[in-house]
Amino acid sequence: MKAAFITQHGDPEKIQIGELDTPQIGPNEILIETRFGALNHIDLFVVKGWPGLSLKMPHVLGSDGSGIVEEIGSEVTTLEKGDRVSINPGISCGKCVMCLAGKQNFCDEFSILGENQWGTFAEHIKVPEINAIKIPTDFTLIKAAAAPLTFLTAWRMLVSRAKIQHHDVVFIPGAGGGVATAAIQIAKFFEAEVITSTSTQEKMERAKMIGADHVINYKERPDFEKYIYTELTKKKGVDIVIDSVGHETFQKSIRLLKPGGRLITCGATTGPKSQIDIRHIFWKQLKIKGSTMSNQKEFRDVMNLVFSDKITPVIDRTYNLDEIVEAEKYLGKANQFGKVILKIS
Ligand SMILES: [Zn+2]
Repeated sequence: MKAAFITQHGDPEKIQIGELDTPQIGPNEILIETRFGALNHIDLFVVKGWPGLSLKMPHVLGSDGSGIVEEIGSEVTTLEKGDRVSINPGISCGKCVMCLAGKQNFCDEFSILGENQWGTFAEHIKVPEINAIKIPTDFTLIKAAAAPLTFLTAWRMLVSRAKIQHHDVVFIPGAGGGVATAAIQIAKFFEAEVITSTSTQEKMERAKMIGADHVINYKERPDFEKYIYTELTKKKGVDIVIDSVGHETFQKSIRLLKPGGRLITCGATTGPKSQIDIRHIFWKQLKIKGSTMSNQKEFRDVMNLVFSDKITPVIDRTYNLDEIVEAEKYLGKANQFGKVILKIS
């Protein structure tokens, strides 16, 4: 099968296109003919490598994908050959205490497609039966590939971790990122008030189009947190911050929270280190919570909303599989608004 893979770590130029053996499925697995994949920052982290990451090379990239079921294992009962499916990229053992409790993302063996096992940027991918969800007939395969990782991440952050309420004011920095565009829509689905920040006029307009109530250009207003605090919230602060930006926004986010506020972090695309004034945490009795991926129920809850078009993945642009190096470099520059898609076959 044709695939995008690495044989050594480095910059995106290390990604190769070539032929690899099609995976063999086990009794509880399905083989999918991949139609679309979607890029995520995790691709760039995997290509670069990190201490403790030990991949068997060649390694196929890609966490998000959709396609057609081509083969099913002998014990698969919920899917058939020919089904159109979207993929949950969070893989777990399915048997441990955490998995049985529905906390799959706490499983010792939890991993993400494209991270520790071959991913979606190939003509075929195998996944456990429970990691595929059928797509309604009128829903496009491209949107089904664009949604999973960012929507399940944003859903868990807002619903399970922040316990969002309709009267909450939510600040989501970095409007163009995949998790942020999902979070803006989910927060509006719950009728919360959404403030977001971004860097260009075009992205400001797009953020408004997907529902953001207030959009700030942080390049024009470097002290945007003061503006949010004094002007937009009349010195009350915000209830929730959904932060996937990290270094550049974390400290400002803590200052912005009102007493009892919740900061949920799922990533650090601008860097992992931040100086924190601890006094803000105890004075305001803040909750700072980490969040990563989702469990199987959260994935199904959010995908059902996506399939009913109540929330919609935003697609920035589409590349062909052969153009993956260019596509990953584009993602690395952070100029996109929404998802960057790969057309696989
Ligand atoms: Zn497990």
